[in-house]
Amino acid sequence: MAGIYIHIPFCKQACYYCDFHFSTNLSLKAELIQAISTELEYQKVYLRGEAIETIYFGGGTPSLLTKQELDWIFNSVYKNYSVISQPEITLEANPDDLNQEKIKILREAGINRISLGIQSFDDKVLKFLNRAHNRQDAITCVNQLRESGIENISIDLIHSIPGQNDHLLSLNLGEVIALAPQHISVYSLTIEEKTVFGKWASRGKVKVVDETHSATQFEQVMDTLTDCGYQHYEISNYCLPGFSSKHNSSYWQQKPYLGVGPSAHSFDGETRQYNVNNNHRYLMSLNKGSIPYEKEILTKENKINEYIFTSLRTNRGCDLSYLIRTHDYDLMSINTTYIQSLLDHGFVTLSENVLSLTRRGKLMADKIASDLFATME
Ligand code: SF4
Repeated sequence: MAGIYIHIPFCKQACYYCDFHFSTNLSLKAELIQAISTELEYQKVYLRGEAIETIYFGGGTPSLLTKQELDWIFNSVYKNYSVISQPEITLEANPDDLNQEKIKILREAGINRISLGIQSFDDKVLKFLNRAHNRQDAITCVNQLRESGIENISIDLIHSIPGQNDHLLSLNLGEVIALAPQHISVYSLTIEEKTVFGKWASRGKVKVVDETHSATQFEQVMDTLTDCGYQHYEISNYCLPGFSSKHNSSYWQQKPYLGVGPSAHSFDGETRQYNVNNNHRYLMSLNKGSIPYEKEILTKENKINEYIFTSLRTNRGCDLSYLIRTHDYDLMSINTTYIQSLLDHGFVTLSENVLSLTRRGKLMADKIASDLFATME
């Protein structure tokens, strides 16, 4: 089984924290979506005929797609790939783009899961982030999605936003819980150099939330959502039972996927491909009949370290037997002293040869993973 990721590189306006690939110039949108449909055709052998069980529209802002643009993409997917009978098809959406008519178009196209970029329910914070919607848009949107029969809704929130103190975060969590989505993703704000926030931070115009406070907010999120019945199945992701994201879980389980569109990545088990992150160059290349990408052949070390990093972040944990079986790599015997100290200090548990992070360990997930990384000559 495999997945397809489709990157829609357009946004109505730029959020001040965002460093994803997108353009606010929509004049090339239709042409570029046709090029993505062509790329899907060119790449039809990439997944070696594996059945497609998940399709994910990410961005950028896929909720800007028109009915016709969705049709171009789906026609190409169904013509060139073998899709299982009930695939998970997710579309990332911004609340200001959706209304009943648009939701109907999405449903009729086959979208059965919506990931809503709400980020905060506080209007002042939303303005500070330069989001295009307000709190009421977000609430109305969730209600309309539900009335229209979308039964799998995910909401994205951000913690560690400058100015969003613990009390405001608690109000936000209360709002999201009241809406009872099936899935919630909560990310810590990271300030990237090339963003507006990055520039403000370098001039001291915005005060970055420090690591200790960020860890406190992470714990606040974790405790509140798990107390309300959400399963914490990945460091940044929570779901009601049975509603984990199949698409994202497949990344964390090293399943193959094809990514199409500017800046999209693909993975076939042995290599990673990275499409050019420039709309114009992507279009020029597709118009000449070739896909503009760079390819990286994964070493044994890359594969082991990707597995350690992603598996430790999930509630499935890092399966030490899998590493021996698949990569002939005995993580335990190479790191006996370190792992024993993690066990002694309550950062990890070891059960049936699976290493899992405890609540304390989750606060240091990246550090523990990188300490365990393999280094090979
Ligand atoms: S809508 Fe999403 S992709 Fe677009 S700028 Fe905002 S955060 Fe980035």
